[in-house]
Amino acid sequence: MKLYNTYENKEEEFIPIKKDQVTIYYCGPTVYNYIHIGNARPIIFFDTIKKYFEHQGYKVIMASNFTDINEKILAESKKEGISEKEVAEKYIKAYLNDVRWLNADDSFIKPKVSENIPEIISFVEEMVKNGSAYVSGEDVYFKVSSIKNYGALSNRKTDELIQGARVEVSDKKESGLDFALWKEFHEGITYSSPWGEGRPGWHTECCVMINKVFGGLIDIHGGGSDLIFPHHENEIAQAEAVYKNRLANYWVHNARVNFEDEKMSKSLGNVVWVKDLKCDPRAYRLLVLSFPYRNIISYSDVLQNQFDKEFEKIYKAYTDLFLYLDLNHALDNELSDKVSNEIIDRFDKAMDDDLNTPNAISVISSLVKDINAELRGKKDLDILIQAYNSLNIMLHVLGLDIKKEKMSEEDRVLYDKWTSARKDKKYEEADKYRELLSKKGII
Ligand SMILES: [Zn+2]
Repeated sequence: MKLYNTYENKEEEFIPIKKDQVTIYYCGPTVYNYIHIGNARPIIFFDTIKKYFEHQGYKVIMASNFTDINEKILAESKKEGISEKEVAEKYIKAYLNDVRWLNADDSFIKPKVSENIPEIISFVEEMVKNGSAYVSGEDVYFKVSSIKNYGALSNRKTDELIQGARVEVSDKKESGLDFALWKEFHEGITYSSPWGEGRPGWHTECCVMINKVFGGLIDIHGGGSDLIFPHHENEIAQAEAVYKNRLANYWVHNARVNFEDEKMSKSLGNVVWVKDLKCDPRAYRLLVLSFPYRNIISYSDVLQNQFDKEFEKIYKAYTDLFLYLDLNHALDNELSDKVSNEIIDRFDKAMDDDLNTPNAISVISSLVKDINAELRGKKDLDILIQAYNSLNIMLHVLGLDIKKEKMSEEDRVLYDKWTSARKDKKYEEADKYRELLSKKGII
């Protein structure tokens, strides 16, 4: 499998550290608000990677953090008149609701900053001790000049970064690129440290959590491409200073989602929240995965509408196929788990090409056409069963699962009544049965 590694700036063959296992970490949200459809992209993307590796037979261990100590949370707690802890809990709950709504697996490991403070303090102490960090007043800063290849991930040279960086006015820092590992803080939730009362800097938590959860170098570290600089660059700098590694062998980043052609932002008032989406979540997933993950998506209602229809096509073919197989008791026999290797190979080939989900979706689309043609034509049960099982596998990997219940005896009687009514041209009666069957999701 080929994977685009941001660190190396190229596609590479994916070789896991352990033969049958893949370890993945991606940066999670700061929990002070609901998530918008752009925040949903890494959830969808890394869930798809996870499911694809599982489909390939790997055991996947995935973690994604919650930043639950942050000034934005403090500001929100004042606004909402509840404690910081309550704000964090509220939005963690909302986030996980959205994760499940997006049909993403919610069983990943979920470390929180507030549960890793002693580890973070020891980690910072280690950097102070080995000279990669310095204490300034009651703050601690990372000394970027102590790292030789700073800028390797974002592919920039240190002097370019200094010129380009919006250098904070701070006489506490030796250089504009240096970043806070610990900051003096006296409001809301604070922690005591060897440097005084304060809070950890944002870039530190992921290093500590990765080390704690996985015990060293991992296979894939991911996140949105807006995190490459400075967040991920700074994570790598600290990992090099303490663990002498770059945290992950593969750094994988997804591009953002714009609303129409503009970046979503609260000030522009063009933010689309996941909780406000009216479409079938699978139709949003289908939209996201129909674009190469490293390309920006320009979301619009028109675009969503188009993908609602695309998903409807898949759903309709699946429903017709399931009904036909069920009516013919084809799902009960021992051949019923037969898969078309030819179809799955084409799907895998697309996914092996740096998670080319658009091509993987076109394998599904062409299968949908074949299913419709077969149901109109020869109705070969063997072909239809293989198509059904192959479709299930592919839909699951992309998180587009469709679930249907086999008909009960009562449903079958209803179905027969509908067919006879149509045969006898009793249209009014037929319509009534049709409506009942449709309500049950059978047709
Ligand atoms: Zn991070």
